[in-house]
Amino acid sequence: MTSIQLATAAVLTASTAAGGLAYAALWPQSQLFGRVLVAGSNPNEIALTYDDGPNDDATERLLEVLARHEVHATFFLIGGFVRQRPALVRSIAAAGHLIGNHTMTHPWLSWQSSARIREELAGCNAVLEDTLGAPVRFFRPPHGARRPVVLRTARELGLTAVQWNITAFDWNPIPAEKILANVTQGIAHNRKRGRASNVLMHDGGHLGIGQPRLPTVEATSRLLQQYKPAGMRFVTVADWA
Ligand SMILES: [Zn+2]
Repeated sequence: MTSIQLATAAVLTASTAAGGLAYAALWPQSQLFGRVLVAGSNPNEIALTYDDGPNDDATERLLEVLARHEVHATFFLIGGFVRQRPALVRSIAAAGHLIGNHTMTHPWLSWQSSARIREELAGCNAVLEDTLGAPVRFFRPPHGARRPVVLRTARELGLTAVQWNITAFDWNPIPAEKILANVTQGIAHNRKRGRASNVLMHDGGHLGIGQPRLPTVEATSRLLQQYKPAGMRFVTVADWA
């Protein structure tokens, strides 16, 4: 989701009944269209989640950073890219990270037919299971957009829908310092409210493999340097399911 879309959802929510629907469909933590997994209740836990990969350089370097700190993260992958980079996807799984479904082609699911929604979710499950030889249990809707049929279809396919409670805003080309600031602010806010942090970041981009995401890798490295010695525990979303 872009910041404009977030702002639009917020404005609509405040002003009109249609806004209530926009909130339910788009606001990351809304439960109005069905239960979604956001985060656990331990304020010392952080799940780093990466969407829109696999993405060559950025994903490979991210795997090195996570390995150096002996931390596991969650990757929501686009099926079309998985098909193009099966070896890279297998190396994500081999390193112990959790892999989830982020549809085949990254459409706005809130505007698609039931048949298309099923095709997107089942297709991504199939390509991931072919690649990894293991079932997929988690799903993140592109842009966080959903409506009841999206969540119902996910459930029928054995998938738990996962949102987030911290947005890094790293789908735009912003420097690592800014990404780091967005995330640290979110973690401080969550700790104050006594809940764990589910951080949305991007090692890829839905427009294609090769999107520049090295600032996200750099921000991840600095997050780990900052929070690991402070005793924060890095988990995957499966730890909260
Ligand atoms: Zn995405």
